[in-house]
Amino acid sequence: MFDINVERLTGGGVPGAGAPPEAEPFADAGVLAPLGLPNLKLGDYRGEGRGTFYLETFGCQMNEHDSEKVAGVLLARGYRQVDTVEAASVILYNTCSIREKAAQKVYSRLGEFRPQESEQQGSGEKEQTASLLRGQAEGGQCRSGRSKERPIPGKIIGVLGCLAQQEGEDIFTRAPWVSLVCGSASYQKLPQLIAELEAGNRRVTGLDTDTDETFETEMTRRDNPLRAYLTIIEGCDKACSYCVVPFTRGPERSRASASILEEVRKLADTGYSELTLLGQTVNSYADPSARKMRFSELLEAVAGVRGIRRVRFMTSHPRDFGKDIVDAMDAVPGICEHVHLPVQSGSSKVLRAMARTYSREEYLEKVALLRRSKREISLTTDIIVGFPGETESDFEETLNLLDEAQFDGAFSFKYSPRPNTPSLRMGDAIPEEEKSRRLAMLMEKQREIQRKRNEKLVGRVFEVMVEGKSRRDKQWSGHTSANRVMNFTSREEETLGDYVQVKVVAVTPNSLVGERVSN
Ligand code: SAM
Ligand code: SF4
Repeated sequence: MFDINVERLTGGGVPGAGAPPEAEPFADAGVLAPLGLPNLKLGDYRGEGRGTFYLETFGCQMNEHDSEKVAGVLLARGYRQVDTVEAASVILYNTCSIREKAAQKVYSRLGEFRPQESEQQGSGEKEQTASLLRGQAEGGQCRSGRSKERPIPGKIIGVLGCLAQQEGEDIFTRAPWVSLVCGSASYQKLPQLIAELEAGNRRVTGLDTDTDETFETEMTRRDNPLRAYLTIIEGCDKACSYCVVPFTRGPERSRASASILEEVRKLADTGYSELTLLGQTVNSYADPSARKMRFSELLEAVAGVRGIRRVRFMTSHPRDFGKDIVDAMDAVPGICEHVHLPVQSGSSKVLRAMARTYSREEYLEKVALLRRSKREISLTTDIIVGFPGETESDFEETLNLLDEAQFDGAFSFKYSPRPNTPSLRMGDAIPEEEKSRRLAMLMEKQREIQRKRNEKLVGRVFEVMVEGKSRRDKQWSGHTSANRVMNFTSREEETLGDYVQVKVVAVTPNSLVGERVSN
């Protein structure tokens, strides 16, 4: 079913905008042909003369989209994007620190640049760099020995995003070969920081979070030619007790509605028909302009732009999820029938400790609101198991919330203690094995719910945007409005980006299997 569930059910997803970069359609079969870039070819922007950059992204869709903007900034400055660190003069990691594992992954990637002891003695710095990169190419074996306390000459290695914000200049101590550290709240400064490095500065940082700016760029290099992302609100003011986002992404800043709509029109003109509006709490959007457009009005306005056929939004916070959003979905078919509404726990006691600002009952009222819609809105969620003090009976409440809410998908996570967060100081930690047991039980139950819910869809016909072609003959894939992955057969030679009607003939817990019917 949902692409996002492919990750969820393995317990490894990165949710929210939250939600992880989407698994490729046909992820089950692993046979997706790479998509081309019909509208926005990288080559169209290639600058001449400047350096080259390699950019790797960890984490959520917001990070993926931030990377698209960072790439746009660099391309506009004349840099050329390359596929390998060896070929790059600027190497950038856009990082995630939502859980400990995500942070460790980044440090292990940075560790691949650690110079070998033998390389530090005697040989010139140029040779050292060359050797480093040879080591990379030969399998990343440059791990032993102490590093020199300086960046790698001729190369800029930069850490961007949430880990950069969280660790700050400590990154220079742990990985002295890094020369740029910049959190997402300071991305406006990126061009200036890069210019400083180009001018010969050895190390630069952008770590302010007290900004009221959003990261808007003249040019965004979009990776997906069919579905575009658009951040409408950055940062988060919610202060959930377990979460690093308020520290790493700064306070909430919304983008003016007129500027959003202008970009939507441009995207429609370049051929995009599907957009996803992004924000950690996208529905907390507060138009900073005199127009004071509500989030639900913005959804309607975006869906009303000529050429836009589907509008998605991610992630919604339950506290700010009101009837006006459901009314807008009922009134405007172009607003996709999917809501990602993280619950985190089924126990009001745990929700209070998490500072989620709603109770179990209040969350279920929001679910009832969605179920009263004229449309069949699919509902997905995020859940944390093993929060400090979560008793067996609290966990039981989460399990029976699954029965009550009937989610179409759930990202589930073991609680991970994070720096700076209030929950770090809470007692009554749950042992790792117990967290794993709860996670497995939760996932098993949710898988069964999804299987049953999907089985009810057999025989139904859905509109699907064609997004991928399988290497297998006549096999295609795409998403329904409700964001379910549909793998389907067609006698036609389909065109990527077209909308077609597909009848469901079989299901798995994570996807639908269909046959193309005539439009
Ligand atoms: N803003 C969204 C919301 O209100 O739920 C979610 C954004 S957060 C980046 C994505 C998800 O990561 C959360 O919904 C939560 O389930 C999970 N998460 C955040 N901090 C976590 C932690 N310390 N341990 C485990 N999971 C965590
Ligand atoms: Fe983190 Fe809570 Fe903000 Fe979501 S709402 S980003 S979980 S603090």
